[in-house]
Amino acid sequence: MSEVIRFDLPQSAIPSHWYNVQADLPRPLPPVLHPGSHQPVGPDDLAPLFPMQLIMQEVSQERWIAIPDEVRDIYKLWRPTPLLRARRLEKALDTPAHIYYKYEGVSPSGSHKLNTAAAQAYYNKQEGINGLTTETGAGQWGTALAQACSFFDMECVVYMVRISYEQKPYRRAIMRSFGASVTASPSDTTNAGRAILEQDADSAGSLGIAISEAVEAAATSGGKYKYSLGSVLNHVLMHQTVIGQEALQQMEAAGEYPDVVVGPTGGGSNFAGIALPFLRQNLTADKQTRLLGVEPAACPSLTRGKYAYDFGDTIGMTPLVKMYTLGHGFVPPPLHAGGLRYHGMASIICELWDQNMMSMSAIPQMETFAAAIAFAKAEGIIAAPEAAHGIAGAIREAQAAKAAGDERVILFNLCGHGHFDMSAYDAYLGGQLSDYEYPQTEIDRAMEALPQVG
Ligand SMILES: *Cc1c(COP(=O)(O)O)cnc(C)c1O
Repeated sequence: MSEVIRFDLPQSAIPSHWYNVQADLPRPLPPVLHPGSHQPVGPDDLAPLFPMQLIMQEVSQERWIAIPDEVRDIYKLWRPTPLLRARRLEKALDTPAHIYYKYEGVSPSGSHKLNTAAAQAYYNKQEGINGLTTETGAGQWGTALAQACSFFDMECVVYMVRISYEQKPYRRAIMRSFGASVTASPSDTTNAGRAILEQDADSAGSLGIAISEAVEAAATSGGKYKYSLGSVLNHVLMHQTVIGQEALQQMEAAGEYPDVVVGPTGGGSNFAGIALPFLRQNLTADKQTRLLGVEPAACPSLTRGKYAYDFGDTIGMTPLVKMYTLGHGFVPPPLHAGGLRYHGMASIICELWDQNMMSMSAIPQMETFAAAIAFAKAEGIIAAPEAAHGIAGAIREAQAAKAAGDERVILFNLCGHGHFDMSAYDAYLGGQLSDYEYPQTEIDRAMEALPQVG
């Protein structure tokens, strides 16, 4: 029997437009506020950090935004990405469910992040910007932006969370191979970094701290650099919608339609990328696909955070964004190896969650790594620990389908491979990891430190 398990699309099927869900949301997104005045920010407030084209995309209400040819040409290096049916995993789980996954790990950077990095570098280049500053945690985003900047002959200045900088020398080497400069954060090169180091000279760093440094480096560069964020912002989520648009075509080729679409949620971009085109089908084509985000139990911003205005960074330099947050002072537990450590979540995802347009699971790390190992043994791919949360969510769905005896069709986003995250697997396989439930007392304390917005 020659059953098809891999659904590839021709290059011509790369989407021509990004899908902007803002056109279809039941109510407008809450305004982003100036950190000092608490008034809504306008394009001019953001202009020191972002090029005008991206600022316009951030607030655009147009449903479809054309992908520039130069960006599509870069997408052609790896897009369309494959969609596979995880037949061997289905057998291993002995489930009647049909499990499909969209594999974004085939990109040169190894994850979905290059989808937006290429677009962001392009628009900055168009505006005559020399280079981009950014932060990176695990290194996926820094790698993608370093590559994108090198494609457009731009500088790339990366602040890398210190603990990752030390634990992931090869990520550092990749970024440098593409010409990026990589600095461990907190560093003594910015006021934000120095302030943290004064309090704690041995700070392991956090994404929030690295964001503060990267924002400051752009804002004080005299227009030489702008800042680039790899997740959370509306335009970033929109750039990722190529994933779901392709998946819609591929599911059609497979002759099925997903009952549930699953993705891990850190800042929300890969989940949005696969889920939003299916949300559009729910809204306009009478479909009822469940959209399921998965976050770590150790960093439960959606399931246990509060929907409130908070800073995007740690120091309090960024505009205030209404989001489900664990507090901008959140420092992830050191025992947690699975990534997805951001204290907040994309505004778009928060609105979907707040309005019951999606569901969420918080999954402990032992189950997450066990799921990743089961997937690797069946399908041959070592997932990024972040992506493993999506696998764990899909496996829970497959087990529920078995218990209910239904042929549920499950689609998940395998948003990156884990080839540079083997120390996390090593820790898991060596018995050094355990589950960690983020303590309620910490959440309560962080809520008291939220900015007071009238
Ligand atoms: C960055 C990253 C994530 C988390 O970010 P999102 O914006 O939530 O997608 C998840 N998986 C991988 C592989 C990543 O590189």
